[in-house]
Amino acid sequence: MSTRYFSHIIGAGPSGLCCALNLAKNGVPFDIVEKNTNPPATNRAIGLHHETLDLLKQHDLYDPTKANSTAIHGSRIYFNNQMKGFIPFQDPENNFSINQQDLEKLLLEHLTTQYGTQIISEDGNDKLFSSNEENVILLCTGARDNLPQKLGFKRKTFPNDEVSFSCDCIIPETKLNHRFMHQMIYPDGRIVFTPLPQKNLFKVTGTYAFTNERVSIPPLQEIHQLIEDKTKITLDEIANLSLYRLQASQSLAYGKNNMFLVGDAGQNFLPHGAFGLNTAIQQAFHLSDLICQNLPFHSIQTQYHNYWKRKVEERLSISQQLAQRVSPSRLAQMDLTKEKIHSPS
Ligand SMILES: Cc1cc2nc3c(=O)[nH]c(=O)nc-3n(C[C@H](O)[C@H](O)[C@H](O)COP(=O)(O)OP(=O)(O)OC[C@H]3O[C@@H](n4cnc5c(N)ncnc54)[C@H](O)[C@@H]3O)c2cc1C
Repeated sequence: MSTRYFSHIIGAGPSGLCCALNLAKNGVPFDIVEKNTNPPATNRAIGLHHETLDLLKQHDLYDPTKANSTAIHGSRIYFNNQMKGFIPFQDPENNFSINQQDLEKLLLEHLTTQYGTQIISEDGNDKLFSSNEENVILLCTGARDNLPQKLGFKRKTFPNDEVSFSCDCIIPETKLNHRFMHQMIYPDGRIVFTPLPQKNLFKVTGTYAFTNERVSIPPLQEIHQLIEDKTKITLDEIANLSLYRLQASQSLAYGKNNMFLVGDAGQNFLPHGAFGLNTAIQQAFHLSDLICQNLPFHSIQTQYHNYWKRKVEERLSISQQLAQRVSPSRLAQMDLTKEKIHSPS
């Protein structure tokens, strides 16, 4: 395809890889740089929505994704270890759980084998960015790198003082049903078990502390004990511990001159609703579609910004509502026999 642009993709997480896939498929020239030589070992996102799967289908990635996934049928909600409700997932066969690093591996493999793409090992901070009519810069740098801020993008943040942990646990099927998510709520926080594709393996996330201070990663044994003490479920094995602050945020603009924000570089969600990874992938395909159409910058900017500003605001609000529906104060007051927990979407 003849195109007026050369695209520089900064960051090879899910959003950068999906931008690259779509540009490569359409024969639009690009390069892609990544500053880390090894992907993070910890589990991050695991839930794929059906809109995301539809996009992966267009790139022949549905079957390999399904082969590396497990279907989740719904979420069981507990308060003080007593089951209080059930949120069924629409179309469970199309609500997959896959390890983010396995999905990244599939995307990268497809890029390399189908299109011969090589990731350049380089820090985007070392690049000189110019507002050049022929170049588009796709900032797919995630939540932690401040390159977008250095380039003048500003964010609004929604303060939250919860520090959460994430780890992987092996729990036998006899103790916890592997077809469902299990959200265990307590007066002082939450522990959530999400099935991973491997038999009996769950990703476990939960409240570690309520503080605005910096917290260092505790010993694995401390988290092991915390989960067992609260849930009364004995864990066979626990690994891959990480700690992160729950904070939602959104960039005030998704595009500026020839630069665009994709994925976590543009927004962060609370974990409720599994929007982070899904939004990253959907934005990547949308923006690269617009670039393939050879539209002028201002037209790409208007369409991309207007669509995602509204869509992300809606999703931030849904994840906030989901958080409230399973909040300790609400669950404590619920009358089990009369009320049901509903999903807001
Ligand atoms: C512990 C944890 C649990 C999570 N759980 C969920 C979940 O259950 N559901 C969900 O939907 N989401 C979850 N998320 C969020 C999800 O992981 C992100 O939404 C998703 O990874 C966003 O993809 P991305 O490509 O935009 O950013 P990232 O995955 O962060 O990728 C950015 C990439 O850019 C690279 N990079 C950054 N700066 C530069 C630079 N200057 N130059 C070159 N390369 C650079 C980074 O090294 C990285 O490889 C979780 C995140 C964490 C940390």
